[in-house]
Amino acid sequence: MTRPVRVLYLAGSGRSGSTLVTTVLGQYAGFFAAGELRYLWQRGEVENRPCGCGLPFRDCPVWRAVRRDVPVDRAGGIAARLRGRLRLRGVPALLRRHRRGRRAVPAHPDDAALAGLYAAVARHAGARVVVDSSKLPPYGALVGALPGVELRVLHLVRDPRATAFSWRRRRGLDGEADQRLMSRPPVWKAALLWLVWNTLTARLWAGDPGRYLRVRYEDLTADPEATLGRIAAFADAGPSTGTDAGPSARAHAGPSAAADAGPFTGPATVRLAPTHSVAGNPSRHRTGPVPIAADVEWRRGLSRWSYAVVTALTAPGLRRFGYPWRRGGPVAPRHEED
Ligand SMILES: [Zn+2]
Repeated sequence: MTRPVRVLYLAGSGRSGSTLVTTVLGQYAGFFAAGELRYLWQRGEVENRPCGCGLPFRDCPVWRAVRRDVPVDRAGGIAARLRGRLRLRGVPALLRRHRRGRRAVPAHPDDAALAGLYAAVARHAGARVVVDSSKLPPYGALVGALPGVELRVLHLVRDPRATAFSWRRRRGLDGEADQRLMSRPPVWKAALLWLVWNTLTARLWAGDPGRYLRVRYEDLTADPEATLGRIAAFADAGPSTGTDAGPSARAHAGPSAAADAGPFTGPATVRLAPTHSVAGNPSRHRTGPVPIAADVEWRRGLSRWSYAVVTALTAPGLRRFGYPWRRGGPVAPRHEED
């Protein structure tokens, strides 16, 4: 019997630092930064956009190997059907099924191709842990139900006023020179999506602490090396019970992430080698020494009106995740209870 593929799924809303976390995790031995795999069929296969390494997706050696094992001829159809299965308006029904202990996203014939993709990625990248930064909780639920996948969820949360501000910035989809811009939702929409996706992520997985880790962007940027090390150890830890897998399993798996020094050259500086992440924020192309620091431009840049709108719309989430109502108020100490 083949070993299941360990997938670390980055869940939550956009602009929460997931690209940075994925790129850094990809530097640890045994980790592969796959990027946003839900977009692989459309942005990778159909549109042939650049891989994290800079090559067009279909020319990248890693993805060329993976492509031989998955039905790329059906990529357009798989992409379209995925969009249909993961629609926002399907969330209430998804939650009802989850509460009743059923599959949150119903099975579909495409699931064999999706399961095959994760197995092929792990095989060709030689990875113990595949890092998928797709973020969308319904897709995470779908991946977690695929045969041969063992899911761990990293819930990344960031102050919604910061994410709303970040969404408004102009940014090329594949870097500064790209004329196509990433989507720029208005602040009210960014706020509502923040609330929906973060609440849904907690509902789906927070009840299972062996498989779920919640990290706030603000805590991560305050202590990057320790926090990334904690995330890597969580993703790489033995069977979901957290117990020791025994010497033979350890020997097979190689050195654990906890023993790996990782890419940090200082407590807040990483040395980044190129990754092969598919889709995602253009910052995934950054390489070399990169300082990790909190991006707090929003504190000056976000207008009073936008701040008030986002604060009002996300109020239940602010309390839950420990964010202040007032600008410049203290962020609650790290807390992981629900
Ligand atoms: Zn590549």
